[in-house]
Order: sequence, then C-alpha cells, then structure tokens
Amino acid sequence: MKNLWAPWRIKYIEESYLVKNKSKHTGCFLCVKKSKTADEKNLILKRGRYGFVIMNHYPYNAGHLMIAPYRHIGDLEKIRPAEASELFLLVQQSIVALKKAYHPDAFNIGMNLGIVAGAGVPGHLHIHLIPRWSGDTNFMPIVAETKVINEELKVMYHKLKKHLR
Ligand SMILES: [Zn+2]
Repeated sequence: MKNLWAPWRIKYIEESYLVKNKSKHTGCFLCVKKSKTADEKNLILKRGRYGFVIMNHYPYNAGHLMIAPYRHIGDLEKIRPAEASELFLLVQQSIVALKKAYHPDAFNIGMNLGIVAGAGVPGHLHIHLIPRWSGDTNFMPIVAETKVINEELKVMYHKLKKHLR
C-alpha cells in the first residue's frame, strides 16, 4: 500500500513547505483560495456567510471535502456560535450532496487540531469529510494518504455542485 503512485502528493508537500515557511496566513492555502473569485478552478463548492466547502485537491479518498470558516483561526474554542452552526450545516449539506451524487456507504468526519495531530494547515481549522464505500479500504491507508483517486476532481466538482447550490 505504501508505494502507490500518487504524484499529486508532491505538490501538496511542496505547498505545505511553502505554507510553513511563510509568515502569518499569507501562505495559508485556505485563505488564498477563499479570497479568489474563480471558485470552479479552486474547487470551492459552496460559500456560506461564515464558511465554505472546498474539495481537497490532494484527497485521501474520492469526494474528500473540507469545510472551513473564512476566518483564519486554528483554535476550535475561538469559533463563534454563528460560525459553528453554519459550519455544521455545511457539513450536513455536503453529506446530502455526496449521498445524492455518489451513494457512499459511510463517512469519516474529523479535524486535526495542531501539527502533532496531523494538521496540514495548523493555523486555519477545517473539518474533513471523507465518503467511504464498502471495501474501498480501511481507515489506516486513508490516514497514510496512499489511496489512488478513481475519478477526476473536475468531474466530481460538477457532479457535487449540482446538489450544493
Ligand atoms: Zn487561513
């Protein structure tokens, strides 16, 4: 499992390095993507008032989405009630869209708070939403980021977008 061909990871590693080596959140990819207008190019599926849904450009599994607040905050306790409820609503809406478009059997939902916990962007928290299909893989290879993606991101984007207006 460990040596699966996964060229997109290289870009992720390079970008993570850049993020870590830039000061403040100018290098935060979530802040960069949210401030641009080309949502399709940036794979932003939905924008709410306080947060947005974006496809993971380097997914652990097909349909891997991230739900993040617009504010650059790393601590969950600093999220305001209005932001928290909208983020949860966006998770629900994303689940509905994934179910309609791809009929997954299950979901993994989680957050990595802090570098030690595996956060790629420790300064800007985000909720991972990962659809699962029976027999796709167990959770460990997902954590190890070695799953090969079976559908092009752009194709998925348009399919999911139809259900996430
Ligand atoms: Zn940010």
